[in-house]
Amino acid sequence: MRRLRNVKIVATLGPASNDYKMIRALFEAGADVFRLNMSHGSHEEIRERHAIIRQIEEDVERPIAILADLQGPKLRCGVFAGDSEELVEGEKFRFDLDTAEGDARRVCLPHKEIFEALEPGSTLLVNDGKIRLKVEECGKDFADCVVVTGGTISNRKGVNVPDVVLPLAALSEKDRRDLEFVCELGVDWLALSFVQRPEDVLEARDLVKGRAAILSKIEKPAAVTAFPEILEVSDGIMVARGDLGVELPVQNVPPIQKRLIRGCRAAAKPVIVATQMLESMIESPVPTRAEVSDVATAIYEGADAVMLSAESAAGDYPVEAVTTMNNVAVEIETDPTYREVIEASRGASHSGVAGAIVAAAREIAETPEIKAICCFTHSGTTASLTARERPCVPIIALTPFATIARKLCLTWGTQCFFSGEVDRFKMAVVSAARAARHAGYATEQDQIVVTAGVPFNVPGSTNILRVAPCEERLIFRTDPE
Ligand code: PGA
Ligand code: MN
Repeated sequence: MRRLRNVKIVATLGPASNDYKMIRALFEAGADVFRLNMSHGSHEEIRERHAIIRQIEEDVERPIAILADLQGPKLRCGVFAGDSEELVEGEKFRFDLDTAEGDARRVCLPHKEIFEALEPGSTLLVNDGKIRLKVEECGKDFADCVVVTGGTISNRKGVNVPDVVLPLAALSEKDRRDLEFVCELGVDWLALSFVQRPEDVLEARDLVKGRAAILSKIEKPAAVTAFPEILEVSDGIMVARGDLGVELPVQNVPPIQKRLIRGCRAAAKPVIVATQMLESMIESPVPTRAEVSDVATAIYEGADAVMLSAESAAGDYPVEAVTTMNNVAVEIETDPTYREVIEASRGASHSGVAGAIVAAAREIAETPEIKAICCFTHSGTTASLTARERPCVPIIALTPFATIARKLCLTWGTQCFFSGEVDRFKMAVVSAARAARHAGYATEQDQIVVTAGVPFNVPGSTNILRVAPCEERLIFRTDPE
């Protein structure tokens, strides 16, 4: 189960992947992080999947991260007397707060905040952006629109309002209940949907109280604009291309993806590229060439992780989808051009002792005898800083904390191992060499770079770099007292 790639794979669980056998098969095929989508599935189902993942983690003796994804303030229309209606281009259609069933002329949009924010000329999108309406006139409880692009509207279809920052609470009542539920259950990452402003992240952080790391999903134009501030207060980012491509013209998504990946790497925070990566594999055992190319692009861009949604949650070929991502990653990452691109996109070295040590570790690891960079990390920071360097050998992160090991499952190139508490540097080197050998990244003939902070157990104190042999006898012979 040794991973031979840097990019991580996130697999969403769902009806197609909810038993031990399937989830374990997904892990073995390459999934590093499992995503529990709170938009679907009851708390009971989520609890079961969570228990299965923790069981697998114990059985395979490898940390596995769980990412719970909150639905967020997703807008939906009400229901229709006839379940659906056909909206025709050029005709009028009204959204209002009347809870009566809808018809060909109107339907309920049960979010009064939207009406406060709309203006004549605003755009409303329905059903993944397939239907487009323009507001002509609006008041505090209605919006009269003209249909710009027609289509079928049916019960509780999603509605997007791209042009305006909605005065919506970042977390709905359901989100608050879900947040408390998953934090109590114990998840490693919590993803926030439809983040609009940094305050949204801070509001969630207040409720999370350190029980999970926070990942902001960038899927609103307002979030793209406020990206630097949102990144600052988040622990990680998701390029949520599904809703992003509804709220903005689809051709705007690739440049945003590039910019977000760069920003995250500079901040040493993990970034996931998500949605429709292998969409056709929901129904087909093989991907399209364009999908393979899309996964490859995210990898060349240096994303920390690529994600599967319905492909692994509800499709006919979940294992094949993970295997495909794994195979694409291994192939791309052995392409010499990949190394060139990754090297060329490295920013200036960062100041401070830890920054200088990780930069030196990366440079030393370019020597052929060096097979891994092993870092002792308490908060995960040193591992993240090392990952930002995008070194050409695996990063082996050793930590006494299960939560840190799991959280780092999302970080580029980082393989985590529980180290137990280490109090002497020589023992740290011995356990680093052991981890590298046992995990199959190095042999007794190889060497490793070890970084650590001494005294141990003080976060953010990285101050030692040592090049060490992997053979135990040699470690003792060459180690300074
Ligand atoms: P979702 O988020 O799957 O929860 O909608 C991802 C996206 O919008 O791309
Ligand atoms: Mn979304």
